Amino acid sequence: MRDKRIKLIYFSLRGSGIRYFELSWKKLFLILSVLMLFIFVIVGSVIGLFTNYYHDFRISTLNNLNDDLMNQLGEMRAQVATVQTKMESLEENDDQERMIAGLDKIDKDMRGVGVGGTAFSYSDELAAFPKETSEDISSTRAIIDQLERRISLLLESKDEIEKKIQKDKQKLRHTPSIRPVRGGRITDPFGMRLDPFIERIKMHKGIDIAAQVGTPVYASAAGVISLVRNRYTPNRGYGREVVVDHGNGLKTRYAHLSKIFVRVGQKVNRWDKIGTVGQTGRATGPHLHYEVIVSTAQVDPVKYILE
Ligand SMILES: [Zn+2]
Repeated sequence: MRDKRIKLIYFSLRGSGIRYFELSWKKLFLILSVLMLFIFVIVGSVIGLFTNYYHDFRISTLNNLNDDLMNQLGEMRAQVATVQTKMESLEENDDQERMIAGLDKIDKDMRGVGVGGTAFSYSDELAAFPKETSEDISSTRAIIDQLERRISLLLESKDEIEKKIQKDKQKLRHTPSIRPVRGGRITDPFGMRLDPFIERIKMHKGIDIAAQVGTPVYASAAGVISLVRNRYTPNRGYGREVVVDHGNGLKTRYAHLSKIFVRVGQKVNRWDKIGTVGQTGRATGPHLHYEVIVSTAQVDPVKYILE
């Protein structure tokens, strides 16, 4: 078969313009193939070069990023350690407050619940990290976990302290602590004494504070008025009297009054005026007979005068 020939026309800038040369199809095909191969190689090399370059670039960027992250991690570890130190001082402070409030200390084991126990519990999540890094991260996270628990415990403790202080305050408010008459002299103490009416040794179940008739008598603590006696027999018993119930088995009695300003069931606070000094009942002169009763027995009221 005769090889078909092909005319290739081109313009020449020199000479007469249009020129042409002839090629066989076979040759043309060969030339095109070589050309194509050449282009492929060139393009492939360029792409390869760029890919390589990009790859290197990415790796170096990631390396830098990794270094930055490691530095950040280091700083965070340092910060966590600072928080830990501050936490320790808060806990010491808490123990001190607990001691003042009359509560038991929280021991170190209880505070640092689960120390070390969770140190490597994150190792599955951190499998891709180098061993040292993964240990760093998991120990830091364990410390943060522990701090979280310590904060919860601290908050609970603060709450407990607050409640205890409130309760103590309440108790203090309801515990007799003052002399119910300003001024005046204790003319008769608590205890055995010679009874001036019957001239025999008898138990004196309160203290007598001598004062003028009309001198104000104050409640010695907060409570509820549980007894008011206005009617009395001259030269007998307590005369006009008031009893205040302070709760917790504590009561106080104010006897031989001339006037009474309260009624049964009324709430009173310390320093509330409940009556005035008198000479009603079995009294040789104007005075207040004051008793402190614990459960059912009278005790020395001087122990409940803290001023
Ligand atoms: Zn008395």
